Amino acid sequence: MYFPKHLFFDLDRTLWDFETNSRNALQKLYDNFQLSSYFEHFIHFHTTYHHINNELWKKYGKGKISKDELRIVRFQKTMERVKIYDQGLVEQLNTSYISTAPKEKNLFPDTLETLKTLSNRYKLHIITNGFEEAQITKLKTTNLFPLFDVIVCSEMVGKTKPHREIFQYALQKANAKPTESVMIGDDHTTDILGAIQSGMQAILFDPKEKYRKSAGQHKIKNLNELPLLLTML
Ligand SMILES: [Mg+2]
Repeated sequence: MYFPKHLFFDLDRTLWDFETNSRNALQKLYDNFQLSSYFEHFIHFHTTYHHINNELWKKYGKGKISKDELRIVRFQKTMERVKIYDQGLVEQLNTSYISTAPKEKNLFPDTLETLKTLSNRYKLHIITNGFEEAQITKLKTTNLFPLFDVIVCSEMVGKTKPHREIFQYALQKANAKPTESVMIGDDHTTDILGAIQSGMQAILFDPKEKYRKSAGQHKIKNLNELPLLLTML
């Protein structure tokens, strides 16, 4: 039997509904900066940005670009796709997005209630690859902040998940043994494999059933499945 004491959560796409929140923030940018002058439709802007942003995050994860490059270049490249080379506009878009997106409040269903229930029995922590000031704003805006004990952002460690260093750092900070710790996250590579390599148990949050269930793998569709599943690990 396994008796977990510490639960480590990923934040983006596990608790905080990144897709919805990012789309809402981009829609505000689109309206406020009248980007309809350059793009046929919001969807055109959104998909262009989304694709470029994903590619840049992969480079950031491999240490090939810095945080500041990632932030500026994603808007620069998005605007270049419609032949706009206006660095002033790019910087305004970036500043506006950074200040508004983390204040979006959509969480996955039952997040707050489930975490409150779990906090009576376990110590809750966060391990995220996101940027510190943005992640703290998200947690505070959604009232999740007081529920967590240790919050580890990859910037503090200089390594992103799935690198073992970030899990080891988080375990140490939380004063937790891997054998009494469970990681819950939506990404099979960064969250699940990273945690397992660090000796933790892992639960995949897969609300849209993107992944096939493989033998021995713990998987949930809704966070409210956690309290019961954790007693059966
Ligand atoms: Mg995630």
